[in-house]
Amino acid sequence: MTFAQLKADIIAYSRSIGIDKIGFASTDPFLELRERLVTQQSLGYQSGFEEADIEKRVQPELLLSEAKSIIAIALAYPAKMKNAPLSTKLERRGLFCRASWGEDYHTILKNKLKLLEAYILEREPSAKVVSMVDTGELSDRAVAERAGIGWSGKNCSIITEEFGSYVYLGEMITTIPFSPDTPITEQCGTCTKCIDACPTEAIVQGGQLNSNKCIAFLTQTKTFLADEFREKLGNRIYGCDTCQQVCPENKGRDFHLHEEMEPDPEVVKPLLKELLFISNREFKEKFGSLSGAWRGKKPLQRNAIIGIAHYKDITAIDDLEKLLKDDPRPVIRGTAAWAIGKLATDQSMLILKAAKEREKDVDVVAEIDKGLNMLKN
Ligand code: SF4
Ligand code: SF4
Repeated sequence: MTFAQLKADIIAYSRSIGIDKIGFASTDPFLELRERLVTQQSLGYQSGFEEADIEKRVQPELLLSEAKSIIAIALAYPAKMKNAPLSTKLERRGLFCRASWGEDYHTILKNKLKLLEAYILEREPSAKVVSMVDTGELSDRAVAERAGIGWSGKNCSIITEEFGSYVYLGEMITTIPFSPDTPITEQCGTCTKCIDACPTEAIVQGGQLNSNKCIAFLTQTKTFLADEFREKLGNRIYGCDTCQQVCPENKGRDFHLHEEMEPDPEVVKPLLKELLFISNREFKEKFGSLSGAWRGKKPLQRNAIIGIAHYKDITAIDDLEKLLKDDPRPVIRGTAAWAIGKLATDQSMLILKAAKEREKDVDVVAEIDKGLNMLKN
């Protein structure tokens, strides 16, 4: 059996197990990426969630000696949800981004890669393989780009010709010298819709993202959200889809090819107030299977409070007061204090003044002061 035949068989097999797109790439060092990462690091544009060792990110051979090829895979996920509950004046709702709908995609893709590994090793027992999804050392996007899965858009997403950019990516390094596929030429042209639509101007220029300004990253942080981003968060609980939603390449694209990616509307568009007091057990039961739950409930609860302030939902004032009084976490007490100021109800001043008397945490006191200042203005 030739490697060309094995490649053709792998492509056919990948279709049969629900891999929507597959491509093959060389293991040459990702020199352009290295340059980009060094620049990103020096400018402080990285999120800190990435692999810190740049060499591991750009040299596949450091991850598997005798590496000869990388197989990139993509699975398309839905862009539209059926029966989405309405967000009404009395029942305000938050939103998880599309990449967090359905079962955690890391699990879905890892399972596909495991099947693919088993298939390859059965055909070529002496081969060695290493697979990864998102949290691995390699850049999923750089690999996908080289393997011809799609081009790298100005919004930093990989844009496929068939499915737009609503695709999950994963890859497998192998010791088999498969012939590489051809990368797709960048097709953004003069379009700048994603750059223009980004609420925080996080896309510094086409293809360059300042992660520290990107809402997708900010929704995952556990500390206080900087003031300048609170207004911009809107009702986002986890992630941000804006730069993908406005992309013309995603127009009319909505694929429902994988049952496990279908969202439960009540889970991915949850009532904001319900999130505020959710127990650990309830959180695990309701949200535990989402990729958006990986940082635990605190960031999502903080975002829910900001969402309540965004909607000026004054029906939540008692809940916010309770959080400010009783929640053991300073980030939650402080964000609640800020939101109480934002809501500017008749009770806001009294609640904040009482809190200032008893609060000991300096960061929370600073938030109470912000709330009080909003009421004075
Ligand atoms: Fe901007 Fe949102 Fe895209 Fe981040 S995900 S670059 S915040 S539009
Ligand atoms: Fe490219 Fe336009 Fe899509 Fe941005 S919105 S990724 S510029 S096609």
